Amino acid sequence: MSSPEKIIHTYHCICTQLVLATTTPLSTLKPRTSDSSLILPLPDLSATTNHYALLTNTTLDTAPTIIRLEDGFEKRYFHKCNRCDLSVGYSLDKSQSEDGKGMKGEVVFLLQGGLVGTENMKAAKDMEGEIGRVGVKG
Ligand SMILES: [Zn+2]
Repeated sequence: MSSPEKIIHTYHCICTQLVLATTTPLSTLKPRTSDSSLILPLPDLSATTNHYALLTNTTLDTAPTIIRLEDGFEKRYFHKCNRCDLSVGYSLDKSQSEDGKGMKGEVVFLLQGGLVGTENMKAAKDMEGEIGRVGVKG
């Protein structure tokens, strides 16, 4: 008898770089009300949890970018793909929700449209192959 293994869902930047591995599929994450980015908690790896998530091949901004919103502004630290420099998500400054300075590291907001599931990426590649074959006669 082996213990059931966790399924790791992997996601790629639109440039195909692998940027996220998580046990919680993005389709089950709650969207943020303000900009509909997906709220991904980054677990404390020293704690026992059923949820694991890891951003990989990304670089986190060392300084926040101030984003203007309809009802004010917020400071965001962007997580950028190492390969193409696209922002795949962001974390907020602590001053947005509590006293203190620096980044709130425990939550990442994933930008919709920036990430592609590995399965979807494979499907898209297969589709390209199909289109290519249909287009060529002989
Ligand atoms: Zn990229």
